[in-house]
Amino acid sequence: MFLLLVCLGTAAALGALWQQAPRFDPLDRVALPAVAALLLGLQLSVSRGWLTLHAAVGVAYSVTTLYFLLSLEHQFHVFAPRMHMLSESSYWFPVLYAAAFLLYAPRRAAWLAGSTYLLTFGLCLYHLLTGLGANDPQLAGAVMQFLLVGAVMIVLEATFAVQRVHLLAAREAAYRDALTGLANRRAAEERLAALARARDRFTLVLFDLDHFKAVNDLHGHATGDLVLRGVAGAAQSVLPSGGTAARWGGEEFLLILPALPDWQVRAMLDTLRAHLLSQRHGAVTGVTACFGVATARSGEHPDDVLARADDAMYAVKRRGRNDVLLADVRRTHHRTREEPVLGTLR
Ligand code: GH3
Ligand code: MG
Ligand code: MG
Repeated sequence: MFLLLVCLGTAAALGALWQQAPRFDPLDRVALPAVAALLLGLQLSVSRGWLTLHAAVGVAYSVTTLYFLLSLEHQFHVFAPRMHMLSESSYWFPVLYAAAFLLYAPRRAAWLAGSTYLLTFGLCLYHLLTGLGANDPQLAGAVMQFLLVGAVMIVLEATFAVQRVHLLAAREAAYRDALTGLANRRAAEERLAALARARDRFTLVLFDLDHFKAVNDLHGHATGDLVLRGVAGAAQSVLPSGGTAARWGGEEFLLILPALPDWQVRAMLDTLRAHLLSQRHGAVTGVTACFGVATARSGEHPDDVLARADDAMYAVKRRGRNDVLLADVRRTHHRTREEPVLGTLR
């Protein structure tokens, strides 16, 4: 995206210069090549890792704003008094305001756009009240339109930006489990659907806490909640990169992992089980769970992988709990619900 903006900015700067040939404006003759060179330099610095993208965007925004302010000041000397209007370069100010709200959080963007606007306002007022633009009603009208459009743009952009923040917060809440902070079932289902579309391979671990009802019955629901939060934190802490931990339902969790070899899943779940055993939640310790593991076969639908992990998990429950089982379907025919062949990992 930054590369695209650099290309567009460089093309705009060089295009504006070309349009002026052979009678170049004294400011643009120096400033436009400098802006183009700086944008290209920033792109190079980002691609080489000398500068963060965030810093490069900040520099590009500041330099562009400075150029447009200088150009506004300059046109009051060479263009506006002669033509009784502002030049086309003033069209770019609303773009600057919109860019601030796209690049930064609403408060920072309002500060940036607001201070740029105040500077333009001050400049225009100064020139309309002093010699250069004074007693020129046509120019005063053009300047007033320019300032009004700027103010309306800032108010509109600020309103959209605040709505965008609310929308993102609502979206985040819709995909997060309120108690544990993990992805909720809806988020997990969407992730599985995305995996199905991408035809990526993956490993699923479904686990259910053992005798959790007894925790609620003996220690109360609040302690039960505490256990669920602790389990969620432990699951999150052992996730490999690219993995997702979700609360699938009540005291049942789903880990969506990149396709992992059995030994790696076993090592990860050993660590998780050790965490669960050692955690203390009020008076509760020694939490155990049943784990069912299934790795997608080539082209296998996530629903089928999930069904195999689920069958494996329930098989552990039937066998006496507190264990990990790997589901492995020998037949390659998909979308069937055959009994998994179970192999204990431990
Ligand atoms: P099993 O070993 O067979 O899985 O037994 P279990 O007691 O863990 O399973 P059961 O399905 O009998 O009970 C699950 C309990 O989880 C019952 C329900 O009240 C409790 N539960 C579900 N959601 C929450 C929650 O958000 N907070 C608390 N504190 N308890 C919950
Ligand atoms: Mg349970
Ligand atoms: Mg359960």
